[in-house]
Amino acid sequence: MRILVFSDVHGNILALEAVLEHAGPVDAYWCLGDLVGYGPDPLACVQRVQSLQPLVCLLGNHDAGVLGKLPLAWFNVEARLSLTWTRMQLTEEALNFLRDLPSMQVLPAWDVTLVHGSLRKPLEEYILTSTIAQYNLHLLETQWGAFGHTHLAMAFVEEEGEVQTWFPQESGASVRVPLRGLFNPGSVGQPRDGDPRASYAIYDTEAQTWTWYRVPYDVQEVQRRILEAGLPRRHALRLSVGR
Ligand code: ZN
Repeated sequence: MRILVFSDVHGNILALEAVLEHAGPVDAYWCLGDLVGYGPDPLACVQRVQSLQPLVCLLGNHDAGVLGKLPLAWFNVEARLSLTWTRMQLTEEALNFLRDLPSMQVLPAWDVTLVHGSLRKPLEEYILTSTIAQYNLHLLETQWGAFGHTHLAMAFVEEEGEVQTWFPQESGASVRVPLRGLFNPGSVGQPRDGDPRASYAIYDTEAQTWTWYRVPYDVQEVQRRILEAGLPRRHALRLSVGR
């Protein structure tokens, strides 16, 4: 089975379509949250993700912000502007889809826990350091976990009590799973690791590999749409540098 694992689409439909096309046919989809916020096409993204089957989809902090499940005060001024605008773009059906999403999901069949942010605080905490990863690995009741939220393609792997940080050096870089660890597929719609290409991962259950991929998409067109919608300029500019 090939499972497409992706996160942080953030209303960027062109990046999402590029990822789906690049991945080709897969057997299942795991989406780790933040379908909306920042990007110019939130409704198209919710509808596209909803159409993927079989799908496990989580709630992210931006999705929660749009629903009022996380106070807008949690976000910075520009993200707040974007969330207020996003809410107006979504249909009742799209809002209901987001409303029903869990913030964490255990899949016993794959011995994996999926979460947007962290096990300690699914919608809020960023797993950015090996110390934070270690706290969360203690809470992990499955062999391994997948998370998003940081927009960084990477992994924290526990070996003999030590947590090692691992970054894929190129598209197609792969690790064996299930290792004891936490894996991040990176962000589809707003990468922040200096590589502007859309990021995702394939978990191959037979080969027992987790492989990261990067895919180019039409960044300029998305920037044009962000500005046209009157959304913060910074959200457009950062897409070309992946920061
Ligand atoms: Zn995000």
